[in-house]
Amino acid sequence: MSFQVFGLPVSRGVAIGRAVLVASSRVDVAHYFIEESRADEEIARLRAARDVVASELTALQRDLPEDAPAELSALLDVHLMLLHDDTLTGATKHWIQERHYNAEWALSAQLEVIARQFDEMEDEYLRDRKADLEQVVERLLRAMARGTASPFAPAPGASPRDFGGEDPLVMVANDVAPADMLQFKRSVFTGFITDVGGKTSHTAIVARSMDIPAVVGAREASRIIRQDDWVIIDGDAGIVIVDPSPIVLEEYRFRQRQSDLERESLSRLRHTPAVTMDGERVELLANIEMPVDAVAALDAGAVGVGLFRSEFLFMNREGELPGEDEQFEAYRAAVIAMNGLPVTIRTVDIGADKPLDRMSVNELRHEHALNPALGLRAIRWSLSEPGMFRQQLRAILRASAYGKVKLLIPMVAHLSEVRLTLDALARAKLQLADASRPFTDVAVGAMIEIPAAALLLPALLRYFDFVSIGTNDLIQYTLAIDRADEAVAHLYDPWHPAVLQLISQTIRLARSAGKEVSVCGEMAGDPAFTELLLAMGLRSFSMHPSQIASIKQRVLRTDVRRWAGRLAAVLESDDPEARFKEAMRA
Ligand code: PEP
Ligand code: MG
Repeated sequence: MSFQVFGLPVSRGVAIGRAVLVASSRVDVAHYFIEESRADEEIARLRAARDVVASELTALQRDLPEDAPAELSALLDVHLMLLHDDTLTGATKHWIQERHYNAEWALSAQLEVIARQFDEMEDEYLRDRKADLEQVVERLLRAMARGTASPFAPAPGASPRDFGGEDPLVMVANDVAPADMLQFKRSVFTGFITDVGGKTSHTAIVARSMDIPAVVGAREASRIIRQDDWVIIDGDAGIVIVDPSPIVLEEYRFRQRQSDLERESLSRLRHTPAVTMDGERVELLANIEMPVDAVAALDAGAVGVGLFRSEFLFMNREGELPGEDEQFEAYRAAVIAMNGLPVTIRTVDIGADKPLDRMSVNELRHEHALNPALGLRAIRWSLSEPGMFRQQLRAILRASAYGKVKLLIPMVAHLSEVRLTLDALARAKLQLADASRPFTDVAVGAMIEIPAAALLLPALLRYFDFVSIGTNDLIQYTLAIDRADEAVAHLYDPWHPAVLQLISQTIRLARSAGKEVSVCGEMAGDPAFTELLLAMGLRSFSMHPSQIASIKQRVLRTDVRRWAGRLAAVLESDDPEARFKEAMRA
């Protein structure tokens, strides 16, 4: 029977497909299709892994010390029994043969099916066996990783070959960590739904950057949607329709076609300069996560990179950080790809909902039950790791010999941090000069994303060449709302008068000091705010490449002079959003 699940719209568009339930801890399992005729080879990989695990478990049992508790041996018996049970390995074959999933994916899909059956059991002892099942699957996945690679596994950077059925697929998970979102680019999914997350959580941001329809904060979604259910993701409204009727399905297919057409017509603006109706030039820049994203930035007509979130280079590495040379190569690749256009590289912003390793955000929260968003993140973390920080600064400086590089410092709040940062930069330059490594004098900017920084702007401007307003965090910290927490998502309000005043004041003060100012938070890519930001004096917007065309269209249709006269009334209103909409209609 058809039903709806409500969440937060985080990435626009409509996706229609069959649900694939993925446990949070298994999002990193590779998802790709295999050729139908090669299913037997894929099943052989699964069998080989099963045999390896069977001998591991038997050896463990054999080598148990005499005084080991009897429960341990019984537990290994249970694991062996689960391993050979037809509902696990036997039924996994079905996903390979019928759906053409690769073995790892098939195994985790079957795990989801059985895990749900365990959850529904009355008997507590049997319910607890779910953990055993997960351990067995973990062992199988590890054995497969060590064994022969699938001939179909896509190479890094390649997209998965599509030997699958006709049905498109959408991922349903409790949570997806930002690092795992990067895998999404190589996966077969056309949309995703998560139970947790906020509109500007980093998972949502990465979804937007990939232009995949997505709904987050859908609470119970991963519990009530079943494997293989047909679902529609309405990424504009934040609604998921499960098992839709043919009429609803047709309506959404129509909308899908409409939005494809709209995109196509917007893409024609790619090479049109962004100039307002009254002749104000506006700079539309791209936010990127990886050097390869520079291609999408140029394709979309970006005139530079306004935010390179360098922390994504630090993720998915099991704690081993990228060294100076590796970082240098990555920054240089982005700079060269941008072909003389400016590239603003932000020093690493690790922490809060962007953990270093693959722990999901939830696990991170439980592990460190403090306040990660207020903790050791961004520049605070960099300053606490001086060796790592200097390596990054040197890598960024070295890339400046290949194009126009700007350096951006996240989460600035204290002048003492500013001085330490500039000292570290000066030292990095000295080291490079001593080693005769070429670099240029990069402009240094501060992110204004903590209210203290906005209030301290005149002092900060004495130290920095430019500022970039990170509205995502500025809203979070001004309103004391965790941006990744769906429980308070309704209070995360970019229209809050305090937020708008801080943004407006920052733009005005920076401009009157003759310093460049841009916005690189999600508000820059949201057409609802384009006129208002232009009226505040903003001329530089940085956003996901996929958003550039619609913001450009908005810029081309705006008469800034007309809007400037209405700004004060909006800012002074108790309800700026309503006042703004009224002004739009006038
Ligand atoms: C911001 O806070 O607005 C921003 C652009 O940085 P991030 O989203 O990476 O925290
Ligand atoms: Mg931020």
